[in-house]
Amino acid sequence: MLSQQKQYDIHWLTGQFRDQSKESEYRRAIESGVRSDSRLALLLVSVVFAMFGITDYNLLGTTTDYYWLLSMRITVVGTCLLLAFIIGRRGGYASTPWLHALPLWILAAGTILIVPLRPESLSTQITAIVVAIMAFYLLIPNLLTIAALASLFLSSGFLVAAYIYAGISAGDVVRLGLLLIMSNIVGYSALRRLERLQRKQYLLLNEERSQNRVLLSEIKHRKSLEAQLRMVAEHDDLTGVDSRRHFMKRAKALLQRSRLEQTPFCFFMIDVDHFKRINDTWGHTRGDLILSTIASVCQQSLRPSDIIGRFGGEEFVVGLPHTLPDDAYAVAERLKQNVAAIALSGELAGVQLSVTIGVAIATPEDDLDDLIAHADNLLYVGKRDGRNQVVMCGEST
Ligand code: GH3
Ligand code: MG
Ligand code: MG
Repeated sequence: MLSQQKQYDIHWLTGQFRDQSKESEYRRAIESGVRSDSRLALLLVSVVFAMFGITDYNLLGTTTDYYWLLSMRITVVGTCLLLAFIIGRRGGYASTPWLHALPLWILAAGTILIVPLRPESLSTQITAIVVAIMAFYLLIPNLLTIAALASLFLSSGFLVAAYIYAGISAGDVVRLGLLLIMSNIVGYSALRRLERLQRKQYLLLNEERSQNRVLLSEIKHRKSLEAQLRMVAEHDDLTGVDSRRHFMKRAKALLQRSRLEQTPFCFFMIDVDHFKRINDTWGHTRGDLILSTIASVCQQSLRPSDIIGRFGGEEFVVGLPHTLPDDAYAVAERLKQNVAAIALSGELAGVQLSVTIGVAIATPEDDLDDLIAHADNLLYVGKRDGRNQVVMCGEST
C-alpha cells in the first residue's frame, strides 16, 4: 500500500498523479461522471448568463450596445449549449481535456466583453466575476490547471478592460486585482484539495477492489480444496463408491426417513466369493482392478436413489429406500447375475467372478447396526450354502 502510494504520488501544484499512465487511467475511470456533471453545470451557467440579459435591457434599453450585448450573450449561450451537448456525448478528461476547457474560455471572453459595453455597472460585474471565478474552479468540472489558467485569463482580462473602458484609477486596479487574486487563491486551493482527495479515494477504492479480488480467488481456491477434501473423505479411492463412514451417514438418514414416512427400506451385504484365491492367483494389483470392476457393475445394477458403499476389503453394502422385499430380492438377483456375467479381458479372460448377498428388510424397530448384523448373518448362510447366491429372510436361491 505504501509503495503503491509513493509510486502514484500526487503533484502538489497540479493535483494530478505524477505517473502519467495512472493519471490517464484515473481520468478514464471518472469519464462518465465528468460528462454528466459538465453537461449539467454548462446548462446552469448558460441559463444564468442568459438571464443577465434582463439587466442589460434595464440598463441600456434598446440601444446599439444592448443589441451588441444581446448578440454576444446569444453566441456565448448557444456555443456553451452546443458544447454541453458534445461533452455529454464524447467528453472525457483522458482524451479531450481541451473540449472541457473550451466553454471556460468562451465564458471568460464573453464576461470580459460586458465591461466595454456596460462600463457603468462595474460594481455589479465585480461580484459577478468573483462568482464566475468560483464557478470556473468548483462548478464546471475541469482539471485544476485548465480551471486556473481560464480564471487567470478572466481576472486579468477583466482588470485590463475595467482600467481601459470603465476608467477606474490605478489604486482601484490594485484593490480589484487583490480581490481577484484572493478569489483565485481560494478557488485554486479548494479545487486542489478536491482533486487530491478524489485521486486518493480512487487509489483506496482500487486497492480495496484488488484486495477483494484476491479474497474472492482465495475463497474460490478454498472452496475447491474443500470440495476435493470432501470428495476424498466421502469416496473410497479404489472403487469410487461411498466410503464406509459416508455410507453409514447416508444410510442412517435414509433409514430414519423411511421410518418417519413409513416406507419400506432394504439393505444388502455383498461379499465377493473366494477373493483371496483371486489375489493369490493373480496378485494384488489385478485383484484391485477386479474389485473396482465389481464395484462399478454393482453400482450400475442399482437405481440412482439407492446408495452403495465399501464396507471393508471385498465387502460392499447397499441401502435401498422405498423398496419392497420382493423388489429388493429382484435387484439383488440382477446384481449377482451382472457380476457373474463380467467378462474380464487379457490374461484374466475366463476368470469367473461371483458374489453372495444377504438381504435384510428393515422393521420399524431396526436401527442400522441391526440391519447390518441381520444382512451379515444372511450372507454367512449364503456362504455356508455354497456362495454365488442371494439370501433373504426365509428365501434363498
Ligand atoms: P469368501 O468367499 O468366503 O468370502 O472368501 P474370500 O477369499 O473372499 O474371503 P476372505 O475374507 O478369506 O478373503 C478376503 C480377501 O480380500 C483377503 C484380502 O487379501 C482381500 N482384499 C481385501 N481388501 C482388498 C483390496 O483392497 N485389494 C485386494 N486386491 N484385495 C483385498
Ligand atoms: Mg469378506
Ligand atoms: Mg469374500
